Amino acid sequence: MRKASVKPVRLGWLVERRLNLWVWCESCSHNKTVPAAPLHEKYGDATLAELKHKFRCAQCGGREIFLRPDWHGAGWTRGVVSKHDKMPE
Ligand SMILES: [Zn+2]
Repeated sequence: MRKASVKPVRLGWLVERRLNLWVWCESCSHNKTVPAAPLHEKYGDATLAELKHKFRCAQCGGREIFLRPDWHGAGWTRGVVSKHDKMPE
């Protein structure tokens, strides 16, 4: 069984868990949280790695975008997440 870290997170996975997407600009550190559901409707069940190419920084125009689930905004703590070895399907 592979570890969770190598399994790509998909938009559908976020939508099911009502998690938002946290968007970070590597160039200027601008960041914001966006809801996953409208993105899922628009782009389908894309992985975050695929999706980041769709984003551009609103502040500096940079395309070095980092995406991750907004664990903290959803009230998931680091400790809780680390107890689960793999992402639930
Ligand atoms: Zn930026």
